[in-house]
Amino acid sequence: MSENVAFAIVFAAAMLLFMWSVFRRFRLITLGKPENRFDHVGKRLWNMVFFAFGQRRVVKRVFGVNHFVLFWCFMILMIANTEFLLHGLFPDTIALSKLTDGVYHPLALVFDIVSVLALTAVVLAIGRRLLFPPPYIEARSREAFIILSLVGLLMIAFFGLHAAEIEQGIEGAEDYMPVASAVSGIFSGVSTDGLETWADVFWWIHAVVLLGFLNYLPHSKHMHILTSIPNCFFRSLEKVNTQPREEFKKGNLFGVGQVTQFTWKGLFDSYSCTECGRCTDVCPAGNTGKKLNPRLVIHDIKVNLLKNGAALPERTNGKGPAVPLIGEGHEGSISEEVLWACTTCGACMEVCPVFIEHVPKIVDMRRNLVEMKARFPEQLLTLFENMEQRSNPWGIAPPERIKWASDLNVRPFEAGKTEYLFYIGCAGALDARARKVTVANARILDAAGISWGTLGKEELCCGDSLRRLGNEYVFDRMAQQNVKTFSEKGVKKVITQCPHCFSTLKNDYRQYGIELEVIHHTELIKDLIASGRLRLGKSDNLGTIVFHDSCYLGRYNGVYDAPRSVIASATGDAPVEMHRHRDQSFCCGAGGGRMWMEESPGKKNINVARTEEALGLSPKTICVCCPYCMTMFEDGLKDKGASDMVQVLDVAEIVERSLSKAPATEKEPAGSAGPTR
Ligand code: SF4
Ligand code: SF4
Repeated sequence: MSENVAFAIVFAAAMLLFMWSVFRRFRLITLGKPENRFDHVGKRLWNMVFFAFGQRRVVKRVFGVNHFVLFWCFMILMIANTEFLLHGLFPDTIALSKLTDGVYHPLALVFDIVSVLALTAVVLAIGRRLLFPPPYIEARSREAFIILSLVGLLMIAFFGLHAAEIEQGIEGAEDYMPVASAVSGIFSGVSTDGLETWADVFWWIHAVVLLGFLNYLPHSKHMHILTSIPNCFFRSLEKVNTQPREEFKKGNLFGVGQVTQFTWKGLFDSYSCTECGRCTDVCPAGNTGKKLNPRLVIHDIKVNLLKNGAALPERTNGKGPAVPLIGEGHEGSISEEVLWACTTCGACMEVCPVFIEHVPKIVDMRRNLVEMKARFPEQLLTLFENMEQRSNPWGIAPPERIKWASDLNVRPFEAGKTEYLFYIGCAGALDARARKVTVANARILDAAGISWGTLGKEELCCGDSLRRLGNEYVFDRMAQQNVKTFSEKGVKKVITQCPHCFSTLKNDYRQYGIELEVIHHTELIKDLIASGRLRLGKSDNLGTIVFHDSCYLGRYNGVYDAPRSVIASATGDAPVEMHRHRDQSFCCGAGGGRMWMEESPGKKNINVARTEEALGLSPKTICVCCPYCMTMFEDGLKDKGASDMVQVLDVAEIVERSLSKAPATEKEPAGSAGPTR
């Protein structure tokens, strides 16, 4: 049997096996629910070029450059490897060396250089894993070393083959292959027969490793080589800052309790994880010792899909999956404790190089627990009851909502007469500390002559915590009622002072057919200062001010500059930045409904970790723009015994302190004029 016939048999077997493995895995994706990720093809293609081929998020980390090099070496060497395989099948007709020298020689030079770059990148990756391992254990897994070794072996075989051919004098591009030429020195003195044997040995090593690598891919974490590029194509075209609505019809299932209840894109995400561990690095829950590891959540979804495979109910007439999706103690199952630990801060999604959407999956599984199984931490029972009965987290009677305004003559919102609805929010209306921020905002609005009013006791909770906690049923009712009130009253523009209200009204309520112009108070104040409507003197000496980004203002809605600019205008100085700031900010620990839950035992509370980070900059003031962050920092300072030395202020309170020193505005205060309620 000639060598190329033998290779043809090996090649055909390897390709069939590869296609069968890929087919079996991709067939499982089709079990997911439908979702349209094929719109705006041009934009999607651009995303793919920019983020997958440009590796934009990968290179944000120093060592990401090594991955960038390896990725592009891999892409370029795909040409060489395709030629290698085709040449193996049709040695007399297909060979790069049959091209003109003007084409072949530059190609040979590129392949030579790229191969040495790839080998260097592999050595660095192995060295890093051995000497400076990333914080997650899988970086040093056997699989990681197998993959890197296979790539390294492929490069060594490439050089061995070409070096033997150069020594034989049969490589026409010898002068254009500096590395292979240098390596050929090791064969000096070897007989012609010996050189032929060495060339054969390296050729077969190259062929077997290449085909073996191909077949290993679908069974390893390196499946992402096949899926991560399309996953960038299918990424969400908008910020992932909301959750799909549920339809409350009899017979419907809610949330995700088994893996096939994810959409196909949710399942495709799980195949695309590169297991780079970036999400784990930034997760506030994981970083403070909780069991949540976002990388593992995605990994377990993949394992669950693969383990259950053909045993999924759709294929076995109702027999349940062998491995539960939500459960304890199996690879492929995610524990309830893990699901409740998430603050939905979005840091994981912000860093993921392949745009995996962790938060919607976690919330979907929470929905299943709450709506299908009535399983949730006991502490949430009171919250859910209070929300349902009194539409606020504390179950306080609605008339209390207007108490904050007892010293102010606040007018109700009236369409045609009032420009802005000032949506106070539950904390702003009912929490003693947050009420001070509400008053500060009211004074600022009046000082700028803004026409504003409130809904008074008719205001309901926006429902943010309910939605993130998976209690979609109560959220849905609340949102419908709010949207009805907004529509009946003709509300078009809304000012919020809580990023959670801001994001919910702006992003979630769109699903209810209302498009509101929602503005966070920091944005409005910035605009008022810029337009000259709000004139500020210099505020008190607040010492060093450290600013903390709220996740739902920053990462969820891209508002980073407004609070900083307002602080600078009010104090004359830009705030000091914490190490983790803007889109890399570290959560205060209150998002995703965690505000209403005790932290599970861990290394430390998230708010304490963040407070320590702020205290590391020796501030006199920690500035926030969210009532939840306010509570978390004040609690954190108490925990650290630093409450007497450091104060927490909202951006509005800093501005209010400058107001008193500004020349009086000539405009009549709008919010405080008119009838009192
Ligand atoms: S959203 Fe935040 S808390 Fe939740 S998994 Fe991601 S990084 Fe962790
Ligand atoms: S989910 Fe994304 S960030 Fe996390 S390990 Fe996978 S690829 Fe990396």
